This record gives sequence, structure tokens and C-alpha cells, in this order.
Amino acid sequence: MIARTVIAGAHIATVDPAGTEHADGHLVIDGSEIVAVGGGAPPAWALDGRAPDGSPCVERVVLTRVDGRGRLLTPGLINTHHHLYQWLTRGYAQDSILFDWLTTLYPIWARIDADLTQVASLGAMAVLARSGCTLVGDHHYVFPRGCGDIVGGIVAAAGEIGVRVHATRGSMDLGASDGGLPPDFAVESTEAALRASAEAVAAHHDPSREAMVQVALAPCSPFSVTADLLRQSAVLARELGVRLHTHGSETLDEDAYTRERFGLTPTQYLESVGWLGPDVWMAHCVHLDAEAIARFASTGTGVAHCPTSNARLGSGIAPVPQLLDAGVPVGLGVDGAASNESGKLGEEIRAAVLMNRLRAGADRMPGRKALWMATMGGATVLGRDRELGSLEVGKLADVALWQVDTVDHAGLIDPVAALTLAAQPPLALLLVHGRPVVADDTLLTVDEPDVARRVAAASRELAERV
Ligand SMILES: [Zn+2]
Repeated sequence: MIARTVIAGAHIATVDPAGTEHADGHLVIDGSEIVAVGGGAPPAWALDGRAPDGSPCVERVVLTRVDGRGRLLTPGLINTHHHLYQWLTRGYAQDSILFDWLTTLYPIWARIDADLTQVASLGAMAVLARSGCTLVGDHHYVFPRGCGDIVGGIVAAAGEIGVRVHATRGSMDLGASDGGLPPDFAVESTEAALRASAEAVAAHHDPSREAMVQVALAPCSPFSVTADLLRQSAVLARELGVRLHTHGSETLDEDAYTRERFGLTPTQYLESVGWLGPDVWMAHCVHLDAEAIARFASTGTGVAHCPTSNARLGSGIAPVPQLLDAGVPVGLGVDGAASNESGKLGEEIRAAVLMNRLRAGADRMPGRKALWMATMGGATVLGRDRELGSLEVGKLADVALWQVDTVDHAGLIDPVAALTLAAQPPLALLLVHGRPVVADDTLLTVDEPDVARRVAAASRELAERV
């Protein structure tokens, strides 16, 4: 049996290399794969049960028709940076900069465990899916003693919601007594972190093109991790064939920290321990000088741009137009919910447009460039650009269908601007790997009020553990 979905009559932004759009187009999905996309009505073979080449199908075709009129069809959005567990710690340290915010939250985070992380992930992923996200990148780096299988909890939550997940096995091994920022009780030994990283990859990483779950290694940041752990993590990740992720150049405090401690900028320091390359992506990259941008570009190092979080913590505005001009792959991220209480990836598109214009000018961040970052840019940063990120024949069917004819958007002359400049539209449909996850702005896979109740209880429990 072939499950075929035909979407017709939508404005389609394919985000293919030519930026092709169809004002009244169709998309055909067979199972988990896009088999046709174009302008006008769907081809006859799609509706009468034949194969794309017009020949009869050996298997029975079960057809679902979706009315795309009044709707915008885009690739599913890809989140390149998050800390899902922080869904339980929203609203703390509301007016603090990064280092003060971190020192307020570390003692709470140090009580996290696998069960609480799984509930947090359900809440965060529910909101992500409802904002168009089909691939959730996460960065988890807090592993208190006896916390259980946290990466397993994140993977289980993604399975329940029905989204792809790129989890990370992160780490911190530089406690306050050794000159780091986190308290000693929140860090692991270097050896334990490396052992657990290899175990997480063995347990959960799927290298296949169709993968719903991948795992990367992700020491937390230059001020919470030793040079030894950074160096050995890079070697281990390359042995295992997985990617590397960390925070880089987020704040001026971090810049001062590496200059004082190593006599290097954060980028020079990270490069010195093997951390630039096409298999590396870094969150934030707010304070990059021209030399650092050139090094990112020549090494193919990716960036996760998190505009709302950078604003919430007053960290600054990343030089995104300059990064894109230089050819650096840039994706979008919501960052952890403790520094972005919204957690909606769809909203980051508009935030990226507005914030980058404040620094670089209105013509330097077109809305469609921000949509590219949220889709193809993210797929590139996560190493999935061959199979995800655009609506093209042969790609996997991760798609978002946005309702743009309600009172919020009716009359707006450009449907794409509904997503890039206006309030985030509701979702008519979200498909991940061809499977429906959201319809009529409601999750199909979990009971939303039940997730809300579980999140509230888990958040209370974590607060009371301190
Ligand atoms: Zn972060």
C-alpha cells in the first residue's frame, strides 16, 4: 500500500536553489517522499493511482487530498539549537545577562533527571511542532549523578510527538574550583563525559538518510569545559562519524574569558582544539570579528542563530548578513526556553528579519533569506541538506502548510510575508516523514491539555527539589 498525499492550490515556497515559488501549485507525496512539485493542478497520474512515470502502481494507492487554497506551503522548519530541559525553568532571572542568569539557574538544573527531561521535551516539542518545526535540534549538557538516560528521554519524547530529533550528548567538566562558571556539583569528569558520549551515539544515532534520530557530541561552552574535553570530543566525534556542537562567541564576557585565560578569541581558541570544520556548528556567534567570519567560511563551520535568546539576555546582534555573504551556513534556533520563554521556531523567522535589520539595514535581511535559514540553512548546518530543507522531488516529506486567509492575514499581498513579517500563521497541516503531526492547529499525536498538566507538575517538582 502506498499512502499518497496530494496538496493542491497552495502558494508554494519550495526554497530550492533557485528560490522557486508557485502561486497556485501542487505537491505530491508517496509515503515519506516528495514525488512531484510544481505549478497548477496536480498531474492526472497523482489522482488516478498511477506511478509518477504514468505506469500502473503494483501496490494499492490510498489517496489523501488536501485543499491548499488560502494556504502557504513551505518545507518543515528546522531548529538548530535548544535546551529542551529548560522548558521546566521558564521565567527565572528575567532581567539578567548570561553569566548571572546561568549562575541563578545552575543549581536548579543540577537536579534534572531523565523523567523530568522527557516531560520538558514533550512540552517544548509540542510547541515547536505547533510552530512548524519538523526537526528538533537539542543541546543537552547537564548530567547530574544518577540522572538516568536523559538522551533516551529526549528521543522518546520526539517519538511521541512524531518529530525528527538531533539530540546531543553534551558535557561540562570545568567546575568553579577549576576556574569554570558552573558549580562543581553540576559537572562530570572528563573521562565519564567521553564514555557517556560514545554510549549515547551507540544507543541512539542513526546515520541513514531517513533517520528520525541522530546524535552529536556537544561540550557546553569554552567557560564550562576543559580544553582537554573539547579536544578529545572532537577526536571521538570524528571516529564515530557524528557532528560537533557547542556555544561560541555568545557574549562579551565569554570573549574576555578566553582572551584572559588563553590569549585567544573564542574562535581562535576553539580552532586550536580542533573545533572548526564542516562537521561543527556553533550556537550564537554574536561577537565574531572579520577574521573569525573568514575562518568559519573557509572551514564550512555552521552557525545556529538564536535572535530571541540573544535579545532576552542582551547579548547583542549576530553579524548574520556578513556570515551569509561569506558563505557560512546559518540556521535558526529558539535556544533554551529559560532564555526564550516562547520556544516557537516560526517566530524566530520574523525575529531574525527584524533584529538583523536593526544592525545591518532593511535591505540586508530579506524575509525569504530568513525563511531559507529556517529550512535549507538549518538542514545544511545539521548535515541533512541532501534529504531535507526544501520541497524538491526525492526529498523527505517534512512540510508545513500555513493558514493565511484568516483575519490575521487575509488581504496580505504576499503569502510568504505572513510568515516572515506578520504574526505567525496557524498551521493547517504539518507532516513529518509524510505523517500528519499537526492538523487545524492542533497536535494529533498527543493530548495537549495532558502535556500542559504534566509540564506544570514537573516544573513544580523541579523547583521544589532545590
Ligand atoms: Zn544555548
